[in-house]
Amino acid sequence: MTLTHRTAPAPVAGPDDVGDPREPVTRLLRDLRSTAQGLSATEAARRLVVLGPNELARAARRPWWRSVLTQVVHPLALLLWVAAALAAVSGSTELAVAIVVVIVLNAGFAFWQETQAERAVEALQGYLPDEVWAVRGGARVRVAARELVRGDLIALEEGQRVPADVRLVGGALEVDTAALTGESYPVARSADAVDDAGRLLDSPVLVFSGSAVTAGTATGLAFATGAHTELGRIAALSQRVDAEPSPLERQVRRVAWLIAAVAVGAGLAFLPIGLLAGLTLTTAAVFAIGLLVANVPEGLLPTITLALAAGVRQMASRGAVVKRLSAVETLGSTTTICTDKTGTLTANRMTVAAVALRVEVAPGSPVAATLAQVLVRCSTADLADGDGDPTELALLAWARGSGVELAPAVRDSDRWVLHRFEARFRRMTTVDRVAGRVVVSVKGAPEQVLPRCAALLGADGTATALDAAARDAVERDVERLAGVGLRVLAVARRDLGPVDPAAVPPDRDTTDRDLCLVGLVGLEDPPRDGVAGAVAGCHTAGIRIHVVTGDHGSTAAEIARRVGIRADRVVDGELVDAMSEGELRELLTADDELVFARATPETKLRIADALHRSGEVVAMTGDGVNDAPALRRADIGVAMGASGTDVAREAATVVLTDDNFATLTAGVEEGRRVFDNVRKFVLYIFAHAVPEVVPFLVFALSGGAIPLPLTVLQILAIDLGTETLPALALGREPAEPGLMHRPPRPRSEGVITGRMLWRAWGVLGLLSAVLVLGVFAAVLLHAGWRPGDAVGPGTALHDVYRQATTATFAAIVACQIGTAFAARTEWASLRAVGLATNPLLLWGIAGELLFTGVLVYWPLAQDVFGTAALPGWVLLVLLPFPVLVWGVDELLRARRRRR
Ligand code: ADP
Ligand code: MG
Repeated sequence: MTLTHRTAPAPVAGPDDVGDPREPVTRLLRDLRSTAQGLSATEAARRLVVLGPNELARAARRPWWRSVLTQVVHPLALLLWVAAALAAVSGSTELAVAIVVVIVLNAGFAFWQETQAERAVEALQGYLPDEVWAVRGGARVRVAARELVRGDLIALEEGQRVPADVRLVGGALEVDTAALTGESYPVARSADAVDDAGRLLDSPVLVFSGSAVTAGTATGLAFATGAHTELGRIAALSQRVDAEPSPLERQVRRVAWLIAAVAVGAGLAFLPIGLLAGLTLTTAAVFAIGLLVANVPEGLLPTITLALAAGVRQMASRGAVVKRLSAVETLGSTTTICTDKTGTLTANRMTVAAVALRVEVAPGSPVAATLAQVLVRCSTADLADGDGDPTELALLAWARGSGVELAPAVRDSDRWVLHRFEARFRRMTTVDRVAGRVVVSVKGAPEQVLPRCAALLGADGTATALDAAARDAVERDVERLAGVGLRVLAVARRDLGPVDPAAVPPDRDTTDRDLCLVGLVGLEDPPRDGVAGAVAGCHTAGIRIHVVTGDHGSTAAEIARRVGIRADRVVDGELVDAMSEGELRELLTADDELVFARATPETKLRIADALHRSGEVVAMTGDGVNDAPALRRADIGVAMGASGTDVAREAATVVLTDDNFATLTAGVEEGRRVFDNVRKFVLYIFAHAVPEVVPFLVFALSGGAIPLPLTVLQILAIDLGTETLPALALGREPAEPGLMHRPPRPRSEGVITGRMLWRAWGVLGLLSAVLVLGVFAAVLLHAGWRPGDAVGPGTALHDVYRQATTATFAAIVACQIGTAFAARTEWASLRAVGLATNPLLLWGIAGELLFTGVLVYWPLAQDVFGTAALPGWVLLVLLPFPVLVWGVDELLRARRRRR
């Protein structure tokens, strides 16, 4: 006989001892040491310390040295490596070392800026608090999702992201488990389901962290949090916002490459020319290196990233949380906004403004009382703590005003069935026990409710048939109320007889029929402050606004007009659904501003699609679970932070923390500003290439008769020293006047335009080059130098030559100061923006001057950079340079403005 040895279950204690989440609820409660009243606040706090916060560990960040390494082997850096190697081979060790120093400094700079950008994005998490309802010590409290602990009793509802692994104890849900299983279709989960699933993940009584609730409500017991959840186990899903390069960065990278290629080509082409002109191989190589170094726009890419990150921060402080850096520029190029009405255009603070009853009744009559009775039943809101749908709160407040009140606890315990309000049904139904009878209470959009009504409640409280004439009259009432901008609800009821569970109809359709219409309620929801101004702002900025709402056409059109949206046509959602793709596009490409009424989430998706295909850049708002596809499809999905669902917030690229339309337009303005600023510093950085390159050409073309006006090390000092701070400061330039008075940038227009290159190279650059060479020549000629005279070390003119190159260097700095002021605006005059409105720029220029002073006058720096102290008259000559460079550009801008 063999003895089978069975291992007894190990009596594990400690953080992982959670029992089996699928065991009976009472046992699970005991295992988790929790109760039906939830955990006490102190116990929850204790567990938070012991078990840690309910967060997934962030994906391990790249070690810093690897980030630096990527920067060092960055293609543009590789070019510099080549230059360093050339320098070393040709014997200029000092130069080689300097270039390597440059590469390292550059990498450090880029690394710092990348870190800054990452921080900016991470800080956004703080603007989007994630909170859930939990029961602690018997009371319902709002708890930050990261502070949930095992054993917490929590409430789940439609639109929410499941914050932990939860065993359902009451209610039923539909959840989308795509994050866990990759299958994105809703599955049913219910506290009462029979659990016969094989896998834990398939259990019908469990929902897991990371899934989205697409329908229903439930309460549940958290049995695992943070890293202990299935999601935490499967993978440390990165919570980092993706860092894909934006179209802007890609464009600039392409241009940087083009420039680098031209520089290398020119360098290689001039090498033989230089040799033919009688240069030694060493000087020719130095020349080629100079050309290369002068043209590689080293700091450009990281500066763009930093400007975008600063834009993200700025937007967040104005209430628009942007989840991707690249969205900043897309937002700036928005051409069409599709906005919700309720809560976005309006304040979402509703009051009952009118009640229409089809019979002549005095206040306090049976009909008015019945209306109030239906409204307090057909509700999930709680007037005492102001929790719930603003529509329902307004209705409850009205009912209380007419003397009818019902404690939510009583209401819920009398309730048998709740068909919640859903965007696609646009009505809500409850079945309750009321005074010994089973009563159906319905409220919703009139076109949904009226067809389901068979009767009308008379003044004496008895029902009369709802004939065609009466129906017409009711519809006219609806139009009358909607026409003045009221949100209209029809209210109806049905008596199912004495209490008997068998009397409850099986589904929504069979419940909502043979209803008796009680009356109509008109709710006033005033436009938000500031929206009218924002709408006007959009119009001057060439942005069209369509309203897409689930509400009645007349209501929506009236509200739209009140805030200044033209509402040229009201289009019914059903009409859109019946249209072909082509018809819809035709409708949308007309110059109208439209109101889409009774729109479903599918309608929204089609509208976003059609607009996008006809070349518009669409920002579309949404708040519900069903809006997620449209939010993803739009160029910019905008979710509501205050009233929206987690699901919508996740699908969106921008979240408005205050739900306000005006905040969205502020975001557009901010996006335009950031894009403009990128152009400003690109212009600034490009401009100096000409005065750096032309001296080399003069040297080569004169066959060395004119000595090199600028040494390669001095070029490096400009590219990486003097010019960096002002470039960064230009990224923080305030918005240029007229920013929101011009049409959106065409989608095809890149950051670098022909006009911009002309301005950088043809105007600012060329002028600088002439001035710079003039000073160089003046210093030499003044000392008696004539073309062809030797200036090398040991010759009589060597000291003068050093002064001359120093003058070139200082002149470039002076010209760059002028360029910086010119670059501050693209159209406007400097006077219009004000000289001192960008203090950072003034500081940057001060820093630039200080650095230049050190290079020119500090003996040690003089040795390294081959500089020499400048005589006073040279300084005097340099003094007007900034004004000259800026002034010419200012005149050209003035001429453009006049045209
Ligand atoms: P909006 O686009 O204005 O947010 P909704 O989709 O919220 O529109 O509402 C559409 C319509 O549904 C409203 O006009 C109203 O008639 C009805 N409705 C809104 N909220 C409720 C509710 N809680 N109960 C019943 N019906 C509602
Ligand atoms: Mg709504």
